[in-house]
Amino acid sequence: MKVVKTVKEVRDYVNSWKKEGLTVGLVPTMGYLHEGHGSLITKAKEGNDRVVVSIFVNPMQFGPTEDLESYPRDLAKDSKYCEELGADLIFNPEPSEMYADGFCSYVNMDVLTEELCGLSRPVHFKGVCTVVNKLFNIVKPDRAYFGEKDAQQLAIIKRMVIDLNMDLEIIGCPIVREEDGLAKSSRNTYLSAEERKAALILSKSIMAGKKMAEDGERDATKIVAEMKKLIESEPLAKIDYVKIVDSLTMQQVAKIEKPILCAIAVYIGKTRLIDNFSFSL
Ligand code: AMP
Repeated sequence: MKVVKTVKEVRDYVNSWKKEGLTVGLVPTMGYLHEGHGSLITKAKEGNDRVVVSIFVNPMQFGPTEDLESYPRDLAKDSKYCEELGADLIFNPEPSEMYADGFCSYVNMDVLTEELCGLSRPVHFKGVCTVVNKLFNIVKPDRAYFGEKDAQQLAIIKRMVIDLNMDLEIIGCPIVREEDGLAKSSRNTYLSAEERKAALILSKSIMAGKKMAEDGERDATKIVAEMKKLIESEPLAKIDYVKIVDSLTMQQVAKIEKPILCAIAVYIGKTRLIDNFSFSL
């Protein structure tokens, strides 16, 4: 497995693979890898001849008051993990490699980006769509793998691929959780021992909401109200949002009639965590 820093090196590898008729899977990440990322890499390995993992803490998707500087990084550990999982190439560019002087082209999406995380993180999805589009152009993968942990992001990438006629398949992969239910996240490392316990309120409320839907509750506002009540019972938790939206459009629904996404964002101390469940009739 190789670790490369330039677009040219990635292209040289990918072009040589394509000449041999091999298929390529891409797993875009911001690094500090855990088993959630690992599940994507494993899936990519199963479905493709070669696997590229990008590790890039993308400045464009962080707001001015967010955690760009403090975001955890450990390339040596990540490389070892990718190698163990059988990845073929890590692309780990510097920001200047991705955003040259004078950079001013972006991918913007309406509607799907205007709800949920798009409300509290106004520049986030413009940064995500732009960098993912660039990664697709650099790696030219046959398939790209994204986690359902970031369900809005997954819906947005799928929409972007349809809208802009991108010639690849997007594969969504289930949320990987800690044994006690907390969704794995690089940001979990920010939590103190006390906060780590408090963070369980996210997965508890997700399980409670999911059970209500599975038991036949179709009033979205009732499910949201119950989930909020549960989260508010945890003193260290502060709700950013708890919403039920249409799975495709990310627009809020009052009744569950079509496939929905129930998504939450909650601050535990200073750390903002997300979780979700999907439900179809
Ligand atoms: P990140 O490095 O946080 O940007 O995540 C890179 C990719 O890994 C995204 O597609 C995430 O949705 C996915 N991912 C992160 N955490 C998990 C998890 N716990 N389970 C499944 N996928 C995940």
